[in-house]
Amino acid sequence: MNCSFALEANAYYSISFDNVKFVESGIFLVNEEGFIEDVFEKDSVEYKSIRKKLVEDGKLRVLDDKHFIIPGFIDLHIHAPQWPQSGSALDQALEVWLNKYTFPLESKFKDLEFASEVYTNFVKQSLKFGTTTAMYFATIDVKSSSMLAKICARLGQRALVGKVVMDDKISNPSYYRDENAKDSLKKTEYFINDVLAIKDSCKQKVYPVITPRFIPSCTDEVLKGLGELAKEYKGIYIQSHVSESDWEHSYVKERFGINDSFALDSFNLLTDRTILAHGCHLSDDDMKLLADRSSSIASCPISNAYFANAVLPVKDAIDKSLNIGLATDISGGYSPSMYTAIRQAIISSRMLNDGVDPRLRSGKRGREDSSLSLNNAFYLATLAGGKALKLPVGKLEKDYAFDIQIIKIDDNIPSFYKEKSNLDLFHKAILLAESTNIEEVWIQGNRVK
Ligand SMILES: [Zn+2]
Repeated sequence: MNCSFALEANAYYSISFDNVKFVESGIFLVNEEGFIEDVFEKDSVEYKSIRKKLVEDGKLRVLDDKHFIIPGFIDLHIHAPQWPQSGSALDQALEVWLNKYTFPLESKFKDLEFASEVYTNFVKQSLKFGTTTAMYFATIDVKSSSMLAKICARLGQRALVGKVVMDDKISNPSYYRDENAKDSLKKTEYFINDVLAIKDSCKQKVYPVITPRFIPSCTDEVLKGLGELAKEYKGIYIQSHVSESDWEHSYVKERFGINDSFALDSFNLLTDRTILAHGCHLSDDDMKLLADRSSSIASCPISNAYFANAVLPVKDAIDKSLNIGLATDISGGYSPSMYTAIRQAIISSRMLNDGVDPRLRSGKRGREDSSLSLNNAFYLATLAGGKALKLPVGKLEKDYAFDIQIIKIDDNIPSFYKEKSNLDLFHKAILLAESTNIEEVWIQGNRVK
């Protein structure tokens, strides 16, 4: 058998939006390429003989029942250069926040030494919290954007990185924009090739992403050109923002007379590799269009509480066959931890469900059938992320990447009695785990924490 090592452990992973599977003392075989070669559950016929053989070969590591494994998290939307201001500067509306804090900070990344320090620091933080696949906006600067991809390649994180495109002379500050559409397109193509050249230099791979920041910062000419680039570089990823806030959503409607999603589609920017952040103001037609194109939404519940003026109705979108993954949205969201994002996704959904204005009558206050369970939110952070990226990640089954977190159960996660079901312990751990409970993180068969 093609197995470089094997791990015997209790495991939890999503098998659908509603269901998490528990595997007791499963044996996970990992091959040379870092994929799960096979999984043997306790009741399988070969379990005993496989186990005996692995022990004889010195290939089996066994975790005790104070530990369990889950898939690594997939964070679909991160502005890595905004890490220095995380946890601060959240006092303004989106359009003010960008100009007052964010663009001045992002413009500093042409300083490669500064960029290297911040990016290395952030990627390590993200790994510490169990994020094994990360989708990044860098800045408009090509060199430091490529550097982010190289840092991820070196530190072992599977990453998708975009050089940000902003060419509109009116909406972008003069100190932070591409010269013109032509300049944006030239730099984007250079960046794509720079990252493609190192894509396979690491086992877990890194990928370039076409990244118009959002419609308000881009001219028609550049959006059209990026759509053409996407056609030329078949299968390339695309990321942007969509229908995020009242201001952003109505800006696009005023400019084009149609919603964000339809505008992006008119520039051929909606493909099955397109990931759009937020989407809180998507209409039913927008959702249908995105689902038809097999594009996905990166839901950013923490950032949305600050900037979106609304809560994304995740359940409704999923009912309409739109794939929704989860994201931290550093630094609109202040925490690099996907655990925090999962918790906020559940809390926001419950507030949407029940409503929040006590002056309104119960039953008139909220939006029915909007609450997310923990299983739902865990699905968004794992399997839905893999589905969005069309990558074999987010599940602990044969042919998926061996991307895992080893969780230690200690006093942070109270366990004074035998839990009623195995899922009880899992639920407590996801809501209460601190970074210290994430004892190890593995990506594509390599240990990174
Ligand atoms: Zn964003």
